[in-house]
Amino acid sequence: MAVDDLANLRAFHEGFRWDEIGLLPYKEEGSAPFKAISRQLLFADPRLASELRYFEMAAGGYSTLERHQHMHAVMILRGVGHCLLGDEVRACKAYDLITIPPWTWHQFRATGKEALGFLCMVNAERDKPQLPSDDELAALRKAPRVAAFLDGNL
Ligand code: MN
Repeated sequence: MAVDDLANLRAFHEGFRWDEIGLLPYKEEGSAPFKAISRQLLFADPRLASELRYFEMAAGGYSTLERHQHMHAVMILRGVGHCLLGDEVRACKAYDLITIPPWTWHQFRATGKEALGFLCMVNAERDKPQLPSDDELAALRKAPRVAAFLDGNL
């Protein structure tokens, strides 16, 4: 394969779509709780150790509450929302950068009137996310702001 075959430019289009990038389900349906969220795999090349994805949730949508050994590096690209980072709830908006360390509970929610979209960089080889046990969820909910976030009441 010639070097030139690797070169590519995929143009951005209104609605946060890119040339030749398919709109994928966020996760397998029923595998974990989530709502109104899509996934696009922007960069995934065996010569890179990482992948870059674009996730977008409609107003009221949310990602799975989970934790894992691998990290996430996130840049919000559109909208506003809230994210759970460990035992803290933070408001986030376009162009904010969010680091999610290993084994940190995290979840994103589109709490504004519009969609929340973000880039997320991860290791190409990574462990499977863990969901909270009932006890772990109860511990998280002890903080009133976290409980309000989890209930979609922020
Ligand atoms: Mn995650």
